[in-house]
Amino acid sequence: MIVNFHKVNLKKKYPLQISRGTHYKSQNLFIELIKDGITAWGESAPGKTEGASNADEVEKSLLKLIETDIDSLSIYETHQRSKELNIPPCAYAAIDIALWDWKAKKAGLPLSSLLGFPTPSIPTSITVGINPPEIIKERVEIILSNPQIKALKIKLGSPDGIEHDKLIYSQVLESIKKSNISIRVDANGGWSLDEAKVMMKWLAERKAEYIEQPLIEGEEDKLKYLFESRPLPIFIDESCRFSEDVARHYEYVDGVNLKLMKCGGITEALRILNVAKSHNLKTMIGCMSESSVSISAGASISGIIDYVDLDSHYNLDPDPSEGAKMIDGITMNSNKPGHGSKLKIEYYA
Ligand SMILES: [Mg+2]
Repeated sequence: MIVNFHKVNLKKKYPLQISRGTHYKSQNLFIELIKDGITAWGESAPGKTEGASNADEVEKSLLKLIETDIDSLSIYETHQRSKELNIPPCAYAAIDIALWDWKAKKAGLPLSSLLGFPTPSIPTSITVGINPPEIIKERVEIILSNPQIKALKIKLGSPDGIEHDKLIYSQVLESIKKSNISIRVDANGGWSLDEAKVMMKWLAERKAEYIEQPLIEGEEDKLKYLFESRPLPIFIDESCRFSEDVARHYEYVDGVNLKLMKCGGITEALRILNVAKSHNLKTMIGCMSESSVSISAGASISGIIDYVDLDSHYNLDPDPSEGAKMIDGITMNSNKPGHGSKLKIEYYA
């Protein structure tokens, strides 16, 4: 098995501000895994909260894993070893995605077919960051100029407080009033318990479908006070990294948002889905600053997921990889064997 690393700088069309800060650009690490004449692709979008803050750290930790001779291991065993070696999830995701891509290519099947999953059918939401209302107006107009778009995810939890959140959201409502679009809200843990109670009631009266991560990661013990008389379904994202977090918090949430970079790839994502479904929770798949490679891996499992937020590649200028496309508002992977995406050759480093 040969593993080549390619570090690629990604630039966003529109910077994304959330409650914790603003993202303009990133450097992702792509993995080209070659074995038995088959080339497979994986991608890591580094993130401090996902264990590795840059592409160099990702590379270093993956070299540590590869040095242990993972060639003879199954995907399950490789995942176990990555846990034993404390490989950051955002780094391991790249290997895991490449291993599943390889396995599906070897079988001559799209990854979704190999897993026995239906093709994706849920339109993706498009994320709107925290901004002054005039920028929100501009952004939503641009998004809605694509008639395929069926849902928006509005980032709230503004550092300027819930009055600013109300201004943002009111502008969104004004901008979408002639369209038939769904709106979801993600507070990224930007509210206190009292603020969350106020905002959830206010949003429930104004078309919001659900609220994601109302309280900051680490304050999960307060979720029960929010859950008991909730006017909107509650999803957790930052509070749910691995399948064991689902088992820990299922009583006081309606659903969980999984991300390949947060959990470490497809293998753990499948576990999260199994545990969530066994507790009758709704499921969502989101993304970090990912290009088509990792988005395609996500799309390969999105056919069994209730809500889809696979949109980061649409905001890249340009997307260095190819394969994931929007079809009728749905983020689809190509139906080639594997997850269907690869790094474009001009970005090989
Ligand atoms: Mg989120």
